[in-house]
Amino acid sequence: MKESSKKNSSEKRKQIQLKGIPAAPGIAIGKVHVYGTEDIVLREHSITSKEIPLEITRFREALKCTRKEIISIEKKISKEMGVEHGKIFSAHLLVLEDSVLVQEVIVRLKKKKKNVESVFAEVLNKYINVLSGAKDEYLRDRISDITDVGKRILRNLLGEEDRNLGELEEESIIVAYDLSPSDTAMMHKGHVLGFVTDIGGRTSHTAIMAKSLEIPAVVGLESITDVVKNGDQIIVDGIHGVVVVNPTKLFLEKYRQEKKKYERLEHDLVELKTLPSETRDGKTFIVAGNIELPEDVASVISHGAEGIGLYRTEYFYMNRKGLPSEEEQYNAYKSVAEKISPKCVVIRTLDLGGDKFLSQLDVPKEMNPFLGWRAIRFCLARPAIFKAQLRAILRASAHGNLKLMYPMISGVGEFRQANVLLEEAKKELRSAGTPFNEDIPVGAMIEVPSAAITSDILAKEADFFSIGTNDLIQYSLAVDRVNEKIAYLYEPTHPAVLNLIKMVIENGHKEGIPVALCGEMAADVALTMILLGLGLDEFSTSPIAVPEVKNIIRSVNASDMKMIAEEALTFTTGREIREFAKSKLKELVPEMMIDIE
Ligand code: PEP
Ligand code: MG
Repeated sequence: MKESSKKNSSEKRKQIQLKGIPAAPGIAIGKVHVYGTEDIVLREHSITSKEIPLEITRFREALKCTRKEIISIEKKISKEMGVEHGKIFSAHLLVLEDSVLVQEVIVRLKKKKKNVESVFAEVLNKYINVLSGAKDEYLRDRISDITDVGKRILRNLLGEEDRNLGELEEESIIVAYDLSPSDTAMMHKGHVLGFVTDIGGRTSHTAIMAKSLEIPAVVGLESITDVVKNGDQIIVDGIHGVVVVNPTKLFLEKYRQEKKKYERLEHDLVELKTLPSETRDGKTFIVAGNIELPEDVASVISHGAEGIGLYRTEYFYMNRKGLPSEEEQYNAYKSVAEKISPKCVVIRTLDLGGDKFLSQLDVPKEMNPFLGWRAIRFCLARPAIFKAQLRAILRASAHGNLKLMYPMISGVGEFRQANVLLEEAKKELRSAGTPFNEDIPVGAMIEVPSAAITSDILAKEADFFSIGTNDLIQYSLAVDRVNEKIAYLYEPTHPAVLNLIKMVIENGHKEGIPVALCGEMAADVALTMILLGLGLDEFSTSPIAVPEVKNIIRSVNASDMKMIAEEALTFTTGREIREFAKSKLKELVPEMMIDIE
């Protein structure tokens, strides 16, 4: 008896470390608040025919009340985080306006003569079941909207208070299976120290919101809700995507120090905002930001980025029914160009496929989607869609400093084909008398090994290169970038990768064109010095990492970096190169070593 209780208590304190997807940087240490597991308790009872009208009125009142709540959240979010984020709630309003759903509740209520809560819950479950089996990804994505709104309606029917994360009494770290956009939106910054979820990816709405709120977050942990309970101590490391439950004293102390270091660094880096990315010996570079939505421009500006090096336009095509019109795209690109002007924005044309699917395009499932019908391959096969985007980009080029680039170019043939369509788009605009920049620079993303190897040929025709290392690494090392089982093989420091980058930079420079790097590697601060030494001209990274990269550039001599890059390439494995890069960073810019192994 004694032994087992001893065993239990030691088990309870056992440290558990989990790896997930970093959604928003920073380190949070606090107590767990498990959120969203309490189900709404429903009681079913019969009603008389006379009571039916009363139940229908209650239902309509609950719908009205829910509508008011959602509109007020939508307003709050649009004001605090931007209209684009607020729009998520328009989908919730659509659920309320679904007359089929409302009618089905009323018809069932009359037939079954049961209280409206239980009838509504039945209809809701039926909808959710049907949607979970749907082939269409857009429809499956609507489950979280319907569940979110359904819960609100039930709470209003039951007269229950709206439970939200804005009302936490103590500072906590939220642990949830998933967080809906309305949960995230209601987080009271002062009381939510961080959050972690079982599901969700780098591009989920929850992850996007976490970055905007600047609350450390890790998503996609798979089973975190099974291993914690309320009150457990937890560390959220949003920089590395690590979560530690019930940390040992030693671990806790290490993380407390790293947290202090990180916060001090963030504070110190604020002053870099207006300073140029210039080395001690006077060589200048560009450190730009990556964006997914027009609303992200604010973060690019507030972090002192010197332009936008990658605008991933495919997000514009996602989470919606139908394709965006040329006009809609033009307005979005124009607004980004105007906001960032006179600095430059590089608009990447539609990069659909791989892990980014658009249900409205009815693209068949493939055995190897990353090697399949994606990005420029898709655009060349669907010229009407591609040309609408090209015209929108060209029209926006009259309003700012705009460049365009094609993703997944595998050789000069594809680059030329894309340019033929670009010329057609230009001709159409010319004959309609629509203004655009005739000399808009056109670049190639270098993310396929064949493009890197033939970059000498491409450099003769492209105006600039942007190396997409997220894909270049997966293709050159044959490591699926989203498969966590082989993530240990995904090495940006593999000599093959560094040699390809070197080759692309040299070939670009031979033809006098600038070379940028816009994959996640640009934010890997241990590698900034090597990239500087290889001669990279521009880094483009998520805005949050901009001050850190700038800081390294401003702390070193460009001439020393050349030697560091040369020495790095004498090692034979990725691991050795990373260790070498880290030791150099520790030596030359020690304050940047936020690194817990
Ligand atoms: C890349 O592949 O490095 C890149 C920037 O593009 P994406 O991550 O959107 O594929
Ligand atoms: Mg890519």
